[in-house]
Amino acid sequence: MLEIKNVKKSFGAVDVLHDISLSVEQGEVVAIIGPSGSGKSTLLRCATLLETMDEGELVYLGEHAVSTGADGKSRYVGNAELKKIQGYFGLVFQNFNLFPHYSVLKNLMDAPVHVQKRNKEEVKKEAMELLEKMGLSDKADCYPCQLSGGQQQRVAIARALALHPQILFFDEPTSALDPELTGEILKVIRQLASEHMTMVIVTHEMAFARDVADRVIFMDGGYIIEQGDPKEVIEHPKEERTKQFLARFA
Ligand code: ADP
Ligand code: MG
Repeated sequence: MLEIKNVKKSFGAVDVLHDISLSVEQGEVVAIIGPSGSGKSTLLRCATLLETMDEGELVYLGEHAVSTGADGKSRYVGNAELKKIQGYFGLVFQNFNLFPHYSVLKNLMDAPVHVQKRNKEEVKKEAMELLEKMGLSDKADCYPCQLSGGQQQRVAIARALALHPQILFFDEPTSALDPELTGEILKVIRQLASEHMTMVIVTHEMAFARDVADRVIFMDGGYIIEQGDPKEVIEHPKEERTKQFLARFA
C-alpha cells in the first residue's frame, strides 16, 4: 500500500528524521509510538505531502511515487499524479481540524464535492451513512463548536472516510480528549480495523496499540529503534530506549 524509503528531514540544524524506511501492507494496522519530539508527526506529514522530504521516496500502491533528491527538489510525476496520490490517503489530526464555519454535513461533503467532483446527492447520501456509523446522525446540521471533543473527532474521522482513502493516518487522535472521551474514538478505530482499513496510528495508548495493531514501531530521536509484533515490542521490548519509554506507562 505504501513504501517509505530512506526519508531524511531536518529543520535548520536539527535532524528530525534520519533515513527512515518502512512499508505498510494492505489491511495492516501499524501503530507508531515514541516520546514527544521523536519525529512521529514529521514522518506522517512527509508521508502525506504536508512536509517536503529533504531526501527520500514515497511509493503509493506500488507505482505512484514522490521522491526528493539530494538537491532538495521534489520530483512528482506531474500534478495529475500528485492529485492521485493525495486521493489515496486520509489524515486525522490531534486537534480535529474541522472547518468551524461549516456544518457537520458540509465538513464531510466539501472535499468529495469540490475536490473529487463527485455527485452532490450521492456524496450527501454517503455522508449521512458515515454519520450514522459514527453515531452522529442527529448532528448533521450542528456546527463543530456545538459538539464535544469526542464527537468532533468522530466527525473528523467520517470526513476522512468520505474521501474513500486507501490508507488512513491518525496523529494522536485521542491526545486532545478528556480520558472519558478517548474510548469512543478508540472504539471507532477498532471498528475500522475489523473492516480491514489500512491504518497508521501515532498513539500514546499502549493497551490500544497492543490490542489493535498488527505491528508496533518505536521511534526515538528520528530513528526507528525497534519494531515488530505489538505484544513483543510492548511487553518484551529488546532495546534499552524502548524499555525506558514503556516504563513510563507501566
Ligand atoms: P513528535 O510528533 O514525535 O512529537 P515531531 O515530528 O512533531 O515529533 O517533532 C520532531 C522534532 O522536529 C522536534 O524537535 C520539533 O521541535 C521539530 N519540528 C517539528 N516541526 C518543525 C517545524 N515546522 N520547524 C522546526 N522544527 C520542527
Ligand atoms: Mg506529534
